[in-house]
Amino acid sequence: MSQQDELVEALNAETNKIRVSGKSLKLKASEKAVEELYNTGLVGKLLADRSINKNAVKAIILKAWRTSRGVQIVDLRENIFLFKFACEGDKRRIVELGPWNIEGFPLILKQWNQNMVVEDLDFSSLPVWIQVHNLSIEYMSKENAVEIGSLVGEVVDVDFTGDGEVCMCNFLRVKVEVKVDDLLRSGFYLDRSPHSDLWIQFKYERVAEFCYKCGRLGHLKARCLKVSHIDAQIPSKEPYGFGHWMKAGSSGRKTSRWVEFMAEESSAK
Ligand SMILES: [Zn+2]
Repeated sequence: MSQQDELVEALNAETNKIRVSGKSLKLKASEKAVEELYNTGLVGKLLADRSINKNAVKAIILKAWRTSRGVQIVDLRENIFLFKFACEGDKRRIVELGPWNIEGFPLILKQWNQNMVVEDLDFSSLPVWIQVHNLSIEYMSKENAVEIGSLVGEVVDVDFTGDGEVCMCNFLRVKVEVKVDDLLRSGFYLDRSPHSDLWIQFKYERVAEFCYKCGRLGHLKARCLKVSHIDAQIPSKEPYGFGHWMKAGSSGRKTSRWVEFMAEESSAK
């Protein structure tokens, strides 16, 4: 063993001794801060393949969120921010209206918790509303919505209007926890045997940009590092693969639904 190796070994032994015998330091947490941050705090990570200028983030957030009494923004790490709202209502509204995008990149928002450190937070998924287009009314049940949503990720909500077995609307809506490492599925084939299979198209609400080559969030096609194109889900007819058709229009929420209630003619005429 060389003299240098012996020195390194001796230093390591000393360090281990300190770790074993060292006492941890107990500090007092501010109860007021814990309560305030729990009720009004969110931690957000921008899923981007480059560093986004924090001033740009602040400007976009303040304009888009329009909070009634403002929001404090603290940058914790590169592309990771703490948002502290002035009231719980603003926080709830921002979570419900998500996902949000900044410069085309999704902002993954998570609840603030005491003793959390950035490294412990799970930013591996985000909730997204998916519209299921081209499905006939008779298939638009809650049960089917859950089954369809499960093709993409964990189903967290189904938008179901009416009290019948099926939803009287022009598309199904299902909220799914989308894993950011998984590709955004473009749709699926509906088995209509003995008739030919039918392509059912997914449209993702409020998903600004994603890679049209590998179908993943967080980067654009020009900066894609994936080697091969995934074509397993290409349908026989257009649209196919990944593309802009997978983004729901801005009017894609309930406003695009159209239900007319016909009043019965009065028989007392
Ligand atoms: Zn890609």
